[in-house]
Amino acid sequence: MLENKDPQRTPIDQLGEFALIDHLTKHFDIKHKSTIKSIGDDAAVLDFESKKVVVSTDLLIEGVHFDLGYAPLKHLGYKAVVVNISDICAMNANPTQITVSIAVSNRFPLEALEELYEGIRLASKFYNVDVIGGDTTSSTSGLIISITAIGEANEEEIVYRDGAKDTDLLVVTGDLGAAYMGLQVLEREKQVFLVNPNNQPDLDDYTYLIERQLKPEARKDIKELLEKLEVKPTAMIDISDGLSSEIFHLTKSSKVGCNVYEEKLPLDPQLINVCEEFNLDSTTIAINGGEDYELLFTIKMSDYDKIKANPHLNVIGHIVPENEGVHIITRENTKIPLKARGWSAISKDEDE
Ligand code: ADP
Ligand code: MG
Repeated sequence: MLENKDPQRTPIDQLGEFALIDHLTKHFDIKHKSTIKSIGDDAAVLDFESKKVVVSTDLLIEGVHFDLGYAPLKHLGYKAVVVNISDICAMNANPTQITVSIAVSNRFPLEALEELYEGIRLASKFYNVDVIGGDTTSSTSGLIISITAIGEANEEEIVYRDGAKDTDLLVVTGDLGAAYMGLQVLEREKQVFLVNPNNQPDLDDYTYLIERQLKPEARKDIKELLEKLEVKPTAMIDISDGLSSEIFHLTKSSKVGCNVYEEKLPLDPQLINVCEEFNLDSTTIAINGGEDYELLFTIKMSDYDKIKANPHLNVIGHIVPENEGVHIITRENTKIPLKARGWSAISKDEDE
């Protein structure tokens, strides 16, 4: 039995590695018949029969990718799964399994890891993926989480970044910039809290933005939606670092250029309001803010009629020959070269 004087803080070194893994993963069930062997051996065993397998990994480091000052561990666990699922969705594949590796210091009690794994469990349930293994090790200070996601697709379903062709339409799902502004709100509240811990923030005007930052969702629905609409994207990528840098990845891989229209960028009303409040240009935020986890893809112009009425899909531009470059056409109809500024750049020079 564990000796536990403080019910909220059970030191993890009381359990030992095997008991810890067992404790954290005992509620994980197996949902896919492709999972032949899950947690508990030297390696998991999978069988995808005639399907192709897609694999993607992400690494999240405390202090770099997340701040436990405002990201609750449950949300962090959920989001760590989501960012990986999003990469599988961006290949137009179905996520099926994940592995979860963590490095923790003894600063984290068992209860903290339980929270983290509760988030991982909820996301695995929502996205219908099996947790099939991982690794657990110690870290000298911060928390590190690495997740590998595995997915399946028929060969002809897979969509790469390099298939966009001249005249294709550029489409984005959902809306842009909200996750970035959610982070700005949280950062501001954290500063207020540091000055006066009794100050209870009123975050009602920012609920959508904060949710987009703390609990983003991957667009697992889009594969099915496009199948129903009988549209296959010619190229696709997920928006983790911001629209502009993803547009550059896609156009560079496809050896094309593109024109994006400012007036077509999908913005949530809450984003527009908060940008005014922070005195930031909403277009800049929509283009450069990161972590929206929406999908950016191209379709043949002839498929336009099939998608035009769908509220999830927004045509924001079109592909041009490579030598014409990558531009944004402003509301005033001026053509400006788009710059590939990612997520980290914007925080350094946001009023540039
Ligand atoms: P090894 O010594 O071969 O690295 P481990 O003792 O680390 O094996 O892991 C034992 C089993 O538990 C393996 O199936 C492994 O995939 C799984 N596992 C280890 N750490 C985690 C974790 N953090 N989350 C989920 N599964 C884990
Ligand atoms: Mg191990």
